Amino acid sequence: MTTITLVQGDITRQSADAIVNAANSSLLGGGGVDGAIHRRGGPAILQECRALRASRYGKGLPTGQAVATTAGDLDARWVIHTVGPVYSQSEDRSDLLASCYRESLKAADELGARTVAFPAVSTGVYRWPMEDAARIAVETVRNTPTAVEEVCFVLFDERAYDAFARQVG
Ligand code: ADP
Repeated sequence: MTTITLVQGDITRQSADAIVNAANSSLLGGGGVDGAIHRRGGPAILQECRALRASRYGKGLPTGQAVATTAGDLDARWVIHTVGPVYSQSEDRSDLLASCYRESLKAADELGARTVAFPAVSTGVYRWPMEDAARIAVETVRNTPTAVEEVCFVLFDERAYDAFARQVG
C-alpha cells in the first residue's frame, strides 16, 4: 500500500528519493515548478536534460510520459520530469494527466525510489481546474500498482492543498 501525504509548500524544499517536475516537452526549463527546480537544483539537471534531447528525446518528451535525471543540489536522488497536458474544454485529456502520475511511478519503480514528491501537474500555466486535477492525481496514485511507499503531494497554496485534502478524505 502506498501512503499518500499532503504538504503545503515549495517542492524544491522537500526531501524525497524522487521529486517530480511539471516540465514541458522541451525539457529545457520553464516557469512554475520547472523554473524553481532548475534554479534550486543547479546546472547538472539541465545538462542531463540537454543530453536527453540530444539522444532519446530529439523531438522532446511527449505529453504524459516521464524521464528521470539527477536531482543536482536538491535534497533528492532523482528528478522525474513529466509533461502534463494543457487543459482543453473541447477535448478530454484526463488520461494524459493520469498517465503523468502512472509513468512517473513507473520511472520511480525502475530507479528503486521509495518516496516520491509530486506537484499538482498541469494546474499552473496549463490551466487544469484544481479540483479535477486533484481527483485525477489521487485516484491514479491509488490505482497504480507500485513499490513506492510514500507519495507526497506538495501543494503551493492553500487552495491546492484543500482540493487535494478533499480527495484524500
Ligand atoms: P504546469 O505547466 O504543468 O501547469 P506549473 O509549474 O505552471 O505546471 O504549475 C503546476 C502547479 O505547481 C501549480 O498549482 C503551481 O501553483 C504549483 N507550483 C508552482 N511553483 C511551485 C513550487 N515551487 N512548489 C510546488 N508547487 C509549485
